[in-house]
Amino acid sequence: MRTTATWTSALAVALFRPHECAPAEPGTQMAPIEAVALAATDLPERVAIELLPGADTGAAALDTADIIVSGGRGLRSADELDLVRDLADALGGTVGVSLPLVDMGWAPRAMQVGQTGTVVSPRLYIACGISGQIQHKIGIEKSGLIVAINTDKDAPIMSFCDLGIVGDLRTLLPKLAAEVRAARTA
Ligand SMILES: Cc1cc2nc3c(=O)[nH]c(=O)nc-3n(C[C@H](O)[C@H](O)[C@H](O)COP(=O)(O)OP(=O)(O)OC[C@H]3O[C@@H](n4cnc5c(N)ncnc54)[C@H](O)[C@@H]3O)c2cc1C
Repeated sequence: MRTTATWTSALAVALFRPHECAPAEPGTQMAPIEAVALAATDLPERVAIELLPGADTGAAALDTADIIVSGGRGLRSADELDLVRDLADALGGTVGVSLPLVDMGWAPRAMQVGQTGTVVSPRLYIACGISGQIQHKIGIEKSGLIVAINTDKDAPIMSFCDLGIVGDLRTLLPKLAAEVRAARTA
């Protein structure tokens, strides 16, 4: 995607969501980057940047993760996130969550995957107890392989995942984690 933008103020800021566009091929003609010295008086006003709770929790960076295992409202309690964490650990991956888990205070905002969380593009994304509503889908559709574990064969995610497993995450996650560990030590 290409676009042309113009700023009318002295201070111009452009923000890009990670993974929204592919990096330019090496050797591509790029626009020149020019450093402009700004005096403090050139700025329209001072801006206070506030670090929101959960933004510095140390949650591994989702936007660069190679493998992500995410939990959704199919989990019955915050403690059940350990099932998700255990599979992520076995795979050497990172844990993500859907928005409701953040809203319920079970996980920090930094772990939220989706349109208003982090847009991710791992090689493998495993969604556990996540229905696949559009706002979550937008955040994961650039993943290499999407695996869904859901008790509902008609959940929206089953229509766009690469591998859909119909079953209870409470039964499947410990088994999967054990299988992965066994395969890794074999
Ligand atoms: C403006 C806006 C922005 C939003 N941004 C985001 C966002 O960035 N990220 C995001 O995730 N959401 C976002 N949402 C919310 C989104 O619309 C959905 O509500 C949310 O993604 C649903 O989360 P969920 O799939 O975990 O829960 P649910 O939709 O409730 O799905 C739970 C799933 O778990 C399954 N399940 C239940 N029990 C089990 C079990 N034992 N084993 C396996 N599966 C089970 C169910 O069949 C169901 O499919 C946004 C909404 C709005 C309006």
